[in-house]
Amino acid sequence: MTVLSSASGTDAGRSASSRTSFDSLAPATGKRLASYPIGNAEQVEAAVERARSAFDWWGSLSFDERKKHLSAWRALIARRVDEFAELVSAETGKPRDDAVLEILLTLDHMDWAAKNAKKVLGPHKVSSGTLAANHEASVEYPPLGVIGVIGPWNYPVFTPMGSIGYALAAGNTVVFKPSEYTPGVGTWLADTFGEAVPGHPDVFQTVTGLGDTGAALCTARVGKLAFTGSSATGRKVMAACAQNLTPVLMECGGKDALIVDEDADVDAAAGAAIWGGMSNSGQTCIGTERVYVHEKRYDQFVDAIRRQAGDVVAGESYGAMTMPSQIDVVRRHVEDALEHGATAVVGGAQSIRPPFVDPVVLVDVPDDSVAITEETFGPTLTVTKVHDIDEAVAKANATGYGLASAVFSGKRGMEIARRLRTGMTSVNSVITFASIPELPFGGIGESGFGRIHGPDGLKEFTRAKAISRQRWTSPLNLTSFRKTGRLTDVLVRIIRLRYGRG
Ligand code: NAD
Repeated sequence: MTVLSSASGTDAGRSASSRTSFDSLAPATGKRLASYPIGNAEQVEAAVERARSAFDWWGSLSFDERKKHLSAWRALIARRVDEFAELVSAETGKPRDDAVLEILLTLDHMDWAAKNAKKVLGPHKVSSGTLAANHEASVEYPPLGVIGVIGPWNYPVFTPMGSIGYALAAGNTVVFKPSEYTPGVGTWLADTFGEAVPGHPDVFQTVTGLGDTGAALCTARVGKLAFTGSSATGRKVMAACAQNLTPVLMECGGKDALIVDEDADVDAAAGAAIWGGMSNSGQTCIGTERVYVHEKRYDQFVDAIRRQAGDVVAGESYGAMTMPSQIDVVRRHVEDALEHGATAVVGGAQSIRPPFVDPVVLVDVPDDSVAITEETFGPTLTVTKVHDIDEAVAKANATGYGLASAVFSGKRGMEIARRLRTGMTSVNSVITFASIPELPFGGIGESGFGRIHGPDGLKEFTRAKAISRQRWTSPLNLTSFRKTGRLTDVLVRIIRLRYGRG
């Protein structure tokens, strides 16, 4: 159930700070879809307080009981996938097929998190070591309490659910602030949770609003704040969370590179680069933005790109740009590159026809131009010729971002993947790691820190709890004022025997 879900007429005439509602618009047409309340600080704090009370119940359930509830929710979403996909498509502008795919991937992750939480987070014994042989040692991962989640609009289901689904499976309750471009999706998620788990609406709540609502969640003393969005907003979120020493998970932007080795399947690499760069209108944090191609295969690769990109058209292959202001960023990057000597081998400045942007592929782009250094977040690629793989790796790593990457290579895929300074890499495909529930997802540097998905993603929403239990009394009691010098001598002998060789 949502905290503030009832649509109430807009207050467009008032100043931003005193507005109490905002509109969700269809990107392709600008048509108003619905209005949503803007949650203020008081309402956010009240939601967190209710989530704290709900944690008394949800946190006390066994893993199996939570799995039952989360499976009911997953099943409900699966049954209503058509209705949900229509809403995702309406708010983001992405085609229905892409919306369905996003939801299916999410269901797979929800299933994995619910089924594996017990194995990953439940108590397990560890060795008690040499000095505490008379103790039993175990570690377990209890939940943190209330998790605040702030989400973006580009994958409004898959991305925040990487935090929400895993945090709930770990036993936390959640307050979610969806992007102001996709409030309906956030509201739908919380409403369906309320239907699937009746009587406990405060376990997962959505509070809609703009940036200020997110800022209020940062200072509401949640157990952890999971943020997904731009690196610029991430900095503000961290600063706000620092006030109460609230820990943060940062899933921020990227400038992902794809490397094409001399023995790569060039047609497959070109197809993957086009999909990695253009799908979802290029509005993918782990989308391909830069391609580095071995000089021996460069001409062949550019030809393959030209050939294959010809069929890709905005409005058919992918949808409208979701956020109007992003179109200006794409235009600036393309025009700047062209002004500084780049050539468009697919599309060009004319490809930008709001609210759509057709594919643009640029070659000979100077390394210091914004199309290479900044996140473009549009359906564009830069393709750069390199002398060898060392140069490709150096150029791919020459960015403050470090989210994901891809390598196409016959023999050296794994070796090159390990040299890339990113959280994730696909070899001979793009973006595949995101669909594998057991793999952790996240970046380094400007792309953030912490992990969603997989065992790491479950542990992210817990604290490690260490317990030692004395099984029998040992004459070698180290934690007593009664221990004698003789005991220390015995210990020295034991330690020499154990560690004194080698
Ligand atoms: P954004 O930073 O503009 O907004 C993200 C969220 O933060 C929104 O819900 C917004 O309302 C909220 N927000 C804005 N100001 C805030 C403040 N001061 N305090 C707290 N919250 C505030 O990002 P966006 O445009 O919605 O999303 C696109 C960005 O997200 C891109 O940079 C993309 O790469 C990144 N992204 C990263 C991942 C990942 O997993 N690493 C996934 C998807 C998107």
